[in-house]
Amino acid sequence: MSNDLRLIFLGPPGAGKGTQALLLAEQLEIPHISTGEILRSAIADDTPLGQQAQSYVDKGELVPDKLLASLIRQRLSLPDAQKGWVLDGFPRTVNQATFLDELLGELHQTYDYVVNFEVQDEVLIERLLTRGRRDDTEETIRRRIEVYRQETAPLLDFYRERDSFCSVDGNRKPEEVTESLKQVVRA
Ligand code: AMP
Repeated sequence: MSNDLRLIFLGPPGAGKGTQALLLAEQLEIPHISTGEILRSAIADDTPLGQQAQSYVDKGELVPDKLLASLIRQRLSLPDAQKGWVLDGFPRTVNQATFLDELLGELHQTYDYVVNFEVQDEVLIERLLTRGRRDDTEETIRRRIEVYRQETAPLLDFYRERDSFCSVDGNRKPEEVTESLKQVVRA
């Protein structure tokens, strides 16, 4: 299977981005870059980044763009990111998307597809409640969905006009979603 693909996965929390990103990245042999996972492991390791991010993550709020900018700059500069990646959870604000365009220009990288995962709120809440992560309490879930609508959904307009933009119906069995994704990336 060909690698050298750069994919941006967008969608609300619980849409299945992480699951699909992991699967596809494995098959394409490219890194799965989840900013949420990087932050969670920084919190677990009690690093300076983790200490700065913890209260935001625990409340379901967005970690400030400045922290994410340096995190993603470092991650995309690593050797393994030179042959492709699946970005999961970044960008999450229009500001982050603008930053990403600039950063990719600097790094001489371009992304191939922006994939938007579509799933209705009721399904999201149900899925997240059964996932059991420490930020998966009902209150935090509702807040994360609200934050998604306010801050992240406007990104769809940012990317929609670009040829690389596409949507997949995320309200299906994981294998069916994977099939659609493979068709998108012709993998
Ligand atoms: P996720 O694993 O993508 O659901 O992210 C978990 C949490 O990490 C989010 O609720 C935010 O607090 C934080 N986070 C992850 N990615 C970002 C981002 N791109 N910008 C701001 N905060 C983020």
